[in-house]
Amino acid sequence: MPEAFAIIDDKHVPLARVVWVSDLPHFCGNEDCDVEGRYEIRIEGDDSLFASREERDETMNRLGDWLDPR
Ligand SMILES: [Zn+2]
Repeated sequence: MPEAFAIIDDKHVPLARVVWVSDLPHFCGNEDCDVEGRYEIRIEGDDSLFASREERDETMNRLGDWLDPR
């Protein structure tokens, strides 16, 4: 059975709640930004999490398996 959750920013997030996954790392140029270089993952309810590259890739893999299990 495919995994139904992905770990994003130390949280177990149900894949069913993921709206989209950023292809490019976050960059806003703001000196106070603490998510520079992390990948935004949009969650239902106008919420966003910021994943490391490894978390982003793993989330994409799990989404692929979950959406199209074989
Ligand atoms: Zn920023």
